[in-house]
Amino acid sequence: MSVPEQFDVIVVGGGPAGSTLIADQGHRVVLVDKQSFPRYQIGESLLPATVHGVCRLLGVEDEVRAAGFTVKRGGSFRWGTSPEPWNFLFALSPELSGPTSYAYQVDRMTFDHLLLKNAARHGVDVREESPALAAVTDGERVSGIRYTDPGGRERELAARWVVDASGNGSRLHAAAGGRRQYSEFFQNLAVFGYFEGGGRLPAPDSGNILCAAFDEGWLWYIPLSDTLTSVGAVLNRGQAARISADRERTLMESIQRCAIVRDMLGGAVRVTEGTYGEIRVRKDYSYADTRFWAPGIALAGDAACFIDPVFSTGVHLATYGGLLAARSVNSVLAGELPEERAFGEFEARYRREYAVFYEFLAAFYDMQQHEDSYFWKARKVTNMRAGDMEAFTTLVAGAYSAEAALVRPDTLAERFSASSADLAGAVERTGAARTPSGERMTELFRAPVVADVMTEMNQIQRRGVGGAITEPPLIEGGLVPSPDGRRWIEPDTAPAAGTA
Ligand SMILES: Cc1cc2nc3c(=O)[nH]c(=O)nc-3n(C[C@H](O)[C@H](O)[C@H](O)COP(=O)(O)OP(=O)(O)OC[C@H]3O[C@@H](n4cnc5c(N)ncnc54)[C@H](O)[C@@H]3O)c2cc1C
Repeated sequence: MSVPEQFDVIVVGGGPAGSTLIADQGHRVVLVDKQSFPRYQIGESLLPATVHGVCRLLGVEDEVRAAGFTVKRGGSFRWGTSPEPWNFLFALSPELSGPTSYAYQVDRMTFDHLLLKNAARHGVDVREESPALAAVTDGERVSGIRYTDPGGRERELAARWVVDASGNGSRLHAAAGGRRQYSEFFQNLAVFGYFEGGGRLPAPDSGNILCAAFDEGWLWYIPLSDTLTSVGAVLNRGQAARISADRERTLMESIQRCAIVRDMLGGAVRVTEGTYGEIRVRKDYSYADTRFWAPGIALAGDAACFIDPVFSTGVHLATYGGLLAARSVNSVLAGELPEERAFGEFEARYRREYAVFYEFLAAFYDMQQHEDSYFWKARKVTNMRAGDMEAFTTLVAGAYSAEAALVRPDTLAERFSASSADLAGAVERTGAARTPSGERMTELFRAPVVADVMTEMNQIQRRGVGGAITEPPLIEGGLVPSPDGRRWIEPDTAPAAGTA
């Protein structure tokens, strides 16, 4: 093999996580992706922090706006014990209200390609059809990768940092020295396809994601354009044999069992040709790696962790992880911080964000308390003598062991119990209100578990919208982002708020 090409940073994977690592600090960055873009990916419903925060920071917000994606003002749910659907609108969050209180439903082929081309425009050497084969090490340190170029030749790249952003199928994540820990609670499978001609919710909710629970699971209904809809069933793993026997039948039967989605698809036809013509399946998708970094390598996006699709958190966590990794790489390469300090902050913040979403989603699933729902059964199968809630929280807590540094395991049961009750109460009050659509969400944003989820997203969005800001440390004793959001700095060197 020839002498390795030298870079400052190697990014593996050109999805949202990888494309967040743009070369705007003068470093030499190379990105390899095994596929040729545009390429298909699931995960079409975004959150405002990605659109107005990360996309603005990356300088791609106008292009994303011009792409004409469906505007998503919030979500509509048939979920929880109330038979009535309820909505939330981003506009009702005090921090998100105003002109940026929306996200998009995106065709990921277009969205991901926009981000990748943006990275190339910002100086990243993008190499498609170039699968990474393995990490290269120099003693204890990851020092590069081996990959195959489009001509089939094996090549080597060397760099001071490798960021593995190669998604859930990552071949490199073990180079960080940890292992993937799968959630014991979120053990679901998804089967999904696309429909032309499905109905739309009434305005202003017509661009909302609709999530509707039924006995064996729940369905998502995402309006990708005026006529195209992404529909997926999330089922428990007990349905695996049924799905592998006939995935199309399983999807269609699930739709028939969920009245609200069945009615919306009344006059619709399933797409059977082209990229959207395939019925796809994803399984085993909820996990976190026990280590997010080691000398020379950091994991970002699905390569590091993923929870569950219900609240559209995947792309947010991916771009957030990419942003945190970029700050750490920039600080270390500039010689401003020791790597333990910079990447310690990366991992602590990333795990915190994962943990608050995990808590929120666990509370959210627990609201679906119909006797015959599979979530309730999931609690029953633990065979615990304890009450449902305790059994449930034990299941959830099992998946939390990797987060032990961030949450106190002894208080988990109480916390989940309180979160779920708060959330259920807020939804009840939200659903019962008779005020115009927007105001119904006020109560939901008052639930502490929702407020926790919003904190960091609000910061990212404020930074994107308002430009340079100063923030207090998120983690005790931790670092703060530099005013431009590109690096980490010690809090005592940060300019006072308002002077940036
Ligand atoms: C059923 C389901 C529904 C979901 N719905 C939503 C949703 O509504 N909203 C949301 O935000 N998220 C959703 N997600 C999550 C979302 O799909 C992911 O979180 C998101 O795509 C992660 O981005 P990423 O950049 O980490 O990885 P990816 O988007 O997977 O990108 C990884 C890239 O790495 C490349 N790659 C892989 N291996 C190699 C290799 N060896 N060498 C080089 N390149 C490689 C791939 O080609 C790919 O381009 C959903 C997930 C599932 C499973």
